[in-house]
Amino acid sequence: MPELPEVETVRRTLLEPVVGKTIVGVDVRFAKIIRPLDSATFSAALTGKTITDIDRLGKYLIFRLGDLNLLVHLRMEGKFFIKPADTLPETHEHVTFTFATGDSLRYHDVRKFGTMTLRKTEALYSAPPLSRLGYEPNHPQLTPAWLKKRFATRRTIKTVLLDQTIVLGLGNIYVDETLFCAKINPNTVANTLTLEDCDTLIHCARKILDKAIALGGTSIRTYLNSLGISGKFQNELMVHLKKDAPCPMCQTTIEKIKVGGRGTYYCPACQPSPPEGASPMSTIIGLTGGIATGKSTVSAMFTAIGMPVIDTDAIAHEALKIGAKTYQDLIDTLGVSILAPDGTINKNTLGKMLFSDPSVRKQVNAIIHPYVRNVVDTELTRLKSLNHPFIVVDVPLLFETDFHTLCDVTVFVYAKQHQQIERMMARDHIDETYARQKLKAQLPLSKKRVLADYVIDNSQSIIQTKKSFQKVIESLRKEDEDGH
Ligand SMILES: [Zn+2]
Repeated sequence: MPELPEVETVRRTLLEPVVGKTIVGVDVRFAKIIRPLDSATFSAALTGKTITDIDRLGKYLIFRLGDLNLLVHLRMEGKFFIKPADTLPETHEHVTFTFATGDSLRYHDVRKFGTMTLRKTEALYSAPPLSRLGYEPNHPQLTPAWLKKRFATRRTIKTVLLDQTIVLGLGNIYVDETLFCAKINPNTVANTLTLEDCDTLIHCARKILDKAIALGGTSIRTYLNSLGISGKFQNELMVHLKKDAPCPMCQTTIEKIKVGGRGTYYCPACQPSPPEGASPMSTIIGLTGGIATGKSTVSAMFTAIGMPVIDTDAIAHEALKIGAKTYQDLIDTLGVSILAPDGTINKNTLGKMLFSDPSVRKQVNAIIHPYVRNVVDTELTRLKSLNHPFIVVDVPLLFETDFHTLCDVTVFVYAKQHQQIERMMARDHIDETYARQKLKAQLPLSKKRVLADYVIDNSQSIIQTKKSFQKVIESLRKEDEDGH
């Protein structure tokens, strides 16, 4: 998987052959890459534009085209090639940008996980996806004090460093190397780290990324840079992929463990285990889906195999009950019109208010979310003390409410939009207009799908869903052979 240094290398190698060229045609042969746009819109927007520069933020390549920008995320296997325009596309070449100069830029992606997005220049950094990203290690705003604030979580340092909304551009390889350089055990709970640790981490991350960029990135397994250029940083790796090799500092045998679902390499002597209480034993799985995608079906599957599930919907319902402080807060904020004759909160009335008025939604969230978060924290502490290896937190708006920052891995349940609408109408006895309105209030499924670590497809038969579920469980449990 290309990480920041590899993407930076791609950027640099593309500058010379691409900048200054005018696009005269775009051919998209695999539409998912450019979703939600369709091929005709995508092509029309880019045709006639000249690529004036290529920038990068984290692992996003930003092709500058005047007032428009093409954002490309290579994900697992995306690559670019330059070829004469009349060369027939290869099997895995999914997008061709033809230039006025008679050559073309080809996007090649064996796994088809890459994405392309168009953004207007004025909204480039203020709108997702770029607005969600944290600071790169070299960014002046990334200070030890800022980092320490973002480390106020019980997640492991390994998981937190992989979180692109905090430190941008560290992937699995470079997090392992950074933690080795900083002599910090990957299982250390982030909030136990000192200001000095944060300072060391920043220093190490900068040193390692700079060196990796200078060497053109790391070439392991299938990933070769576009244009056939391969990086040299793999020769500089200290611990990553070095299981059973001697530590270059102390000769102790390097070990491979799993942290937050990711293969993790470290030296047990240079990076000793954190003191008790600083090492969580449980992996927290964030489970989410769109409305009526079948999340509760999957949630029941987790329960059936003995994994405890914390249901935030149920907690939110508790918050509406007479006697709860949140019950009174809601009445104080929205008035007694939300009450049924018997004094209970009328969920239907409240629901309609929520989905038709974003400002009401905001007010209600400000009351309910802290309550839910609090109950979840207490429940997590309790379940962790029972040494459950996996704990599931079922959160409908996992990404929208930043709940995913609490989780080591995220699982997304997917269904097709028409299935969501049909299920909602049948389940909640609502009409299609209201069902569509409810859908609109959430992040589009395509966005969540990209944000999640695992996807469970619930758009086909229940047997398929079960299969998909079992696959996810297997990969959560098994040692990740290639370390990603
Ligand atoms: Zn060592």
